[in-house]
Amino acid sequence: MNILIIGSGGREHALGWKIKQSPLCDKIVFTPGNAGTAELGTNVPVGVNDFAGIKKVVLENNIKLVITGPEEPLVNGITDFFRQDNDLKEIGIIGPSKIGAQLEGSKDYAKQFMLRHNIPTARYLAVNDKIREEGKLFMKELKPPYVLKADGLAAGKGVLIIDDYDEACSELDRMLGGKFGAAGKTVVIEEFLSGIELSVFVLTDGKDYFILPEAKDYKRIGENDSGLNTGGMGAVSPVSFANADFMKKIEDRIVRPTVNGINKEGIDYKGFIFFGLIKVNDEPYVIEYNVRMGDPETEAVLPRLKNDLVELLQATLNGTLNEHKTQMDPRFAVTVVLVSGGYPGDYKKGIKVSGLDQVDGSLVYHAGTALEQKDVLTNGGRVFAVTSLAPGMNEARKTSLKNADKIIFEGKYFRKDIGFDL
Ligand code: ATP
Repeated sequence: MNILIIGSGGREHALGWKIKQSPLCDKIVFTPGNAGTAELGTNVPVGVNDFAGIKKVVLENNIKLVITGPEEPLVNGITDFFRQDNDLKEIGIIGPSKIGAQLEGSKDYAKQFMLRHNIPTARYLAVNDKIREEGKLFMKELKPPYVLKADGLAAGKGVLIIDDYDEACSELDRMLGGKFGAAGKTVVIEEFLSGIELSVFVLTDGKDYFILPEAKDYKRIGENDSGLNTGGMGAVSPVSFANADFMKKIEDRIVRPTVNGINKEGIDYKGFIFFGLIKVNDEPYVIEYNVRMGDPETEAVLPRLKNDLVELLQATLNGTLNEHKTQMDPRFAVTVVLVSGGYPGDYKKGIKVSGLDQVDGSLVYHAGTALEQKDVLTNGGRVFAVTSLAPGMNEARKTSLKNADKIIFEGKYFRKDIGFDL
């Protein structure tokens, strides 16, 4: 079977790496891919939101299965585009319909869904310009800090956590005044939950689910979670505090009610669900839903999954996920992300990378890289994700750090404390 993977990050490289191991996979095409994915298949320079261009690639390459890595094409309705096109409707596409993708595309929609299905989450009020004063009164009822979220997609920058009430009110005014454009026309004000976060991933066929290994990611640029937010500086799997009892709570109170809710509401959803969770006094709460896998979590999760991913994706499309049981590698995976100097602010691109052939004992997933002749060049903020597996987390981290040192490019930076807090 020929398979298309949409996207160009470490997540898509890891998906390709895992899919390539399946005897069911003949050929992989990436739109647009990166220097790493070029080694697994063919890269075609088509943007993730260019649905007409993607259609052409699907037909020209006899693609039978499509996996959408990032959220934007899903929120823009790529699944509906496939279902409604006469030439594409037989092609299997992983990812929810446009309505299902609202679980990530609108925080207000996600909160209402959680309320309807009794899924534990922080207390909230969604406000728009007409009821901004109600928002300020609601904040008065809450204890600081105040959590303000732009309703729509804002590239991970739409959440503000503010200590001071007056400042939170001014920020609410700025958000409703257009600070985040259309994404901030509605603002979700939430009660602040204090606890430790983790992420749980499932595949769902719309009625059953298959649980993937859980993970914890590290979002801040600096060690000890300091400094600016990034797309993610590292991840670990498994998560030590997510013991069997806690995972059962997550499954019973969050995963199953979510999938049952999707089923009951008749939402067309065949794909990944990423549960962003927080543990508060031993109880799990949903912080957010994402409708795709995480990056860099995928780079820590997939190396621990022993099942054939193509089989699982087919079962997702055929509605037979209940026939599959999760087989996990018990070892620890530690993923360390190497970024360009200056990231998440301004950084240079086009810097030559060396030392990739010196890596020993780790998996290297490319993110922001490009090929020029035979040279690998940096092409983004996050450049590589280095993952190692070992019986203990410290050993896995050590191997990832040793190999992160061997990959050379001017300005390279990475955190050395991934998983230290666990
Ligand atoms: P992401 O980059 O994870 O996609 P996002 O912009 O979609 O983020 P959220 O995941 O909802 O937004 O929030 C981002 C971060 O803000 C969370 O990972 C968490 O650390 C913090 N956060 C969000 N909501 C709350 C809350 N109610 N209480 C405490 N912290 C919160």
